Amino acid sequence: MVNAPTVICVGMAGSGKTTFMQRLNSHLHSKKKPPYVINLDPAVSKVPFGCNIDIRDSVKYKKVMEEYNLGPNGAIVTSLNLFATKIDQVINLVEKRADNFSHCIIDTPGQIECFIWSASGAIITEAFASTFPTIIAYIIDTPRSSSPTTFISNMLYACSILYKTKLPMIVVFNKTDVEKADFAKEWMQDFEKFQESLRTDPNMNGEFSNGSGYMSSLVNSMSLMLEEFYSTLDVVACSAYTGEGFDDFLNAIDKKTEEYNEVY
Ligand code: GDP
Ligand code: MG
Repeated sequence: MVNAPTVICVGMAGSGKTTFMQRLNSHLHSKKKPPYVINLDPAVSKVPFGCNIDIRDSVKYKKVMEEYNLGPNGAIVTSLNLFATKIDQVINLVEKRADNFSHCIIDTPGQIECFIWSASGAIITEAFASTFPTIIAYIIDTPRSSSPTTFISNMLYACSILYKTKLPMIVVFNKTDVEKADFAKEWMQDFEKFQESLRTDPNMNGEFSNGSGYMSSLVNSMSLMLEEFYSTLDVVACSAYTGEGFDDFLNAIDKKTEEYNEVY
């Protein structure tokens, strides 16, 4: 196992993966060794950071769309499939350079399902995980997760990714320049506070007002499962715009890498 950790950035479309990558890249340049940078989004028009490997160099997304008569998401998955057939060469290339970088950082397609729920996404992830300590950074749009209902959807999605990849995960609350993530940390530490917010959430139409009924009982049961899930996570709040929180993120990576080397 090579020692330099690989960080795979995943998250809902628009959560800020690419902007996070850009900031992480410049942060590592200034604080540690430059990272090894990989772009796996075939459909992006401009990548705002220098890449060592860019899927767009080997797979032409628009041509894939025309040639196979596919829509946007089908073309992304097919592009990833084509790239995955060469993953051995990619891993060899990264491994050869491993002495020269501190971290390998990977951006993934805007639509999270294209990567996480595709066979090629799994093949690529597993290829890295068998060679490098590989950590999933799950990027969350904090301002869009500040209502209890969107928050819990995001957390359940994060949990499903943990099950799918079985890799250590850091939950990154991004865009703290717009909204601080204190509410999220509080909800993750104290489920009663979360339930209280749910009770007063106008989206719930009073479902929780008397603490009974189907939704209340569902949320109570979920609390047990989420508590267990939260206990394995590291949580970081940051802003890809201002750079706030990126030292914390690197510390979380160090911690997860240590754990990784003990477990895997
Ligand atoms: P991706 O689809 O996950 O790769 O998301 P992008 O990196 O393309 O970002 C989506 C949108 O969120 C863009 O308009 C970004 O400028 C914006 N964005 C990303 N990070 C931040 C941040 O830290 N703060 C703010 N305010 N906006 C951000
Ligand atoms: Mg992107």
